[in-house]
Amino acid sequence: MRNRFIRRGVGVAILFTIFYVMLLIIKPFIDTNSYQYTPAFSISSEDFPNWLLDKSYLKNQAESISEKIFKSEVERQAKAFSEVYFLEQPIKKRKTIKQIALTFDDSPDDWYCPQVLRILEKYKIKATFFLIGNRIKTYKHNALAIQNAGHLIGNHSFAHDKLTQITTEQMMEDLKLSEDVFVQELGIKPLLFRPPYGMISDEQIIELGVRGYKIINWSIDTYDWDIKRNSPLELFMRIEKYAHNGGIVLLHKAFY
Ligand SMILES: [Zn+2]
Repeated sequence: MRNRFIRRGVGVAILFTIFYVMLLIIKPFIDTNSYQYTPAFSISSEDFPNWLLDKSYLKNQAESISEKIFKSEVERQAKAFSEVYFLEQPIKKRKTIKQIALTFDDSPDDWYCPQVLRILEKYKIKATFFLIGNRIKTYKHNALAIQNAGHLIGNHSFAHDKLTQITTEQMMEDLKLSEDVFVQELGIKPLLFRPPYGMISDEQIIELGVRGYKIINWSIDTYDWDIKRNSPLELFMRIEKYAHNGGIVLLHKAFY
């Protein structure tokens, strides 16, 4: 009698284990909220021509007139310069695992940087960091921590000026300063560029494109930069609402 109970118990445990393992295997295929986190544009340059998007979109619904203007401007540029300017990541067609990229602007710093790196390490997520050139020397240890953790690094200008308010020549002077710092301090020359505030003129896009840069904006704005609507819950709900395959999420991690 007792043996029968034990056998039945073992049988149920084995069935449960098989069911659980099966569930883990098929989860990515059935769970619409299951995403693989990847750095933005981690694909190799040889692959690039096969990955081009005709157009990409900013998924956020505009909540004000200025946001409406911004959205239509970035979507126009993404369409007009689809080989060098992106709001979304190109994704392989029919790929079953959905990918999303977390991007962090305005680092390095001493306050948020270590915390964000700890969280990313805990969840084994590789992200993309767009570093500001003039911060790299001051917070070099944290720039190196980002690099050593294996995250992708992009250029976010030297002085964080609004590029639409300066000339293309001035932008190139600023970029040169930034490139020099990246090379001297980190030994790299990233070819991913995120314009401060996501704003850049058509002429400036063309100039950067000629020099081999890819301009990477975002398709999901968390509004973590806006104190009036940046509680952790609001950020989370916004990401969940607009999450999509090939999505690029805008986040920040600098202390001003
Ligand atoms: Zn910025």
